[in-house]
Amino acid sequence: MTVLLPGFLDAHAHLALIDPTQLAAGGIARVLDLGGWWPAADAPGGVAAAAALGVAGTDAVPSAAGAADAAGPDARYAGQFLGAPGGYPSRQAWAPAGSACAVGSPGEAAGAVARQAAGGASVIKVTLNSAAGPVLDTATLAAIVAAAHERMLPVAAHTEGPGQADAAFTAGVDLLAHTPFTDRLPGELLGRMAGRLTWISTLDIHGWGEPTAAFHVASDNLARFHTAGGRVLYGTDLGNGPLPVGLNRREIAALLACGLSPDDVLAALTADYPGYPNGPIPAAVSPARPSASTPALALAPALAPGVSPAGARRVTVIPGDRPTDPHDLTGFIDWLLRAQALPAHALPAHAQPARALPRPDLEDHRS
Ligand SMILES: [Zn+2]
Repeated sequence: MTVLLPGFLDAHAHLALIDPTQLAAGGIARVLDLGGWWPAADAPGGVAAAAALGVAGTDAVPSAAGAADAAGPDARYAGQFLGAPGGYPSRQAWAPAGSACAVGSPGEAAGAVARQAAGGASVIKVTLNSAAGPVLDTATLAAIVAAAHERMLPVAAHTEGPGQADAAFTAGVDLLAHTPFTDRLPGELLGRMAGRLTWISTLDIHGWGEPTAAFHVASDNLARFHTAGGRVLYGTDLGNGPLPVGLNRREIAALLACGLSPDDVLAALTADYPGYPNGPIPAAVSPARPSASTPALALAPALAPGVSPAGARRVTVIPGDRPTDPHDLTGFIDWLLRAQALPAHALPAHAQPARALPRPDLEDHRS
């Protein structure tokens, strides 16, 4: 029997740093691109940076029909990293010019958020990395969150350094882009976080199979967050280091080791794109070329060859039966790793889900 599921989501990817056309063969149908795109129209070095990464500029906006036929995933985007002037990742070698947007005061927050929204962002990404430079002060971070929420956009935070995950939570962000890995979070804080925060797992970046101290810190935090009822999404930070382009066996194994059940893992893979508040994330604006009079971010889908426009439906199919023994975790992983993503229209009519995607209902979606 082949199992048909809502398209698997990698909720933390950087499509500019990988070949997105390889994702489907690895089972990933949808991605949340958490930052690194830049304004091609109005930032120094923006177009040059795009060219350096081998992606097309704004003159190469694909037609909707052409993009829909591409082999890449459905994708939603964060746009630029919003952070303190001189903060992470503005000084990182991997960050192309224009990928960070400095926000120096609360008064600059609304404009920075508007800039991302104009470019088609579906989520706002902030960085709070005290290990790599200055971080947003409390008032500026709160102003960014307020500006994003005014537009019904969720906010995802990269937190690194003591107290940064707490600061993000206190400011009202909706998602942590990484399981906190700096230090062990107190249970009381985890309990409060579990009430309204979503964590994106990204455990395997800590050692890529050779677990570091941060891997163990993160795994312990994730296990307790999950136990407290916290919502976890599968995410890998794809593009950051030697990660497989597709489902990551080690990330799945790490989630199971944290106490998630196979059903929990499937829920983490098949969830809706995160949104604010509670509803699904809004779709990106329809593709439009920035004009001279209204400079805007280059639409990320236009910059990424092989990426389908948001809203295109893809599903994940897994050949063979899921192991019936709930304790056979290795068998579950082996089965899961056979997943492939397909355009829904490519499936034979009798295999189409009876009900609308993407709500998972494993029984109804079997074929
Ligand atoms: Zn990342």
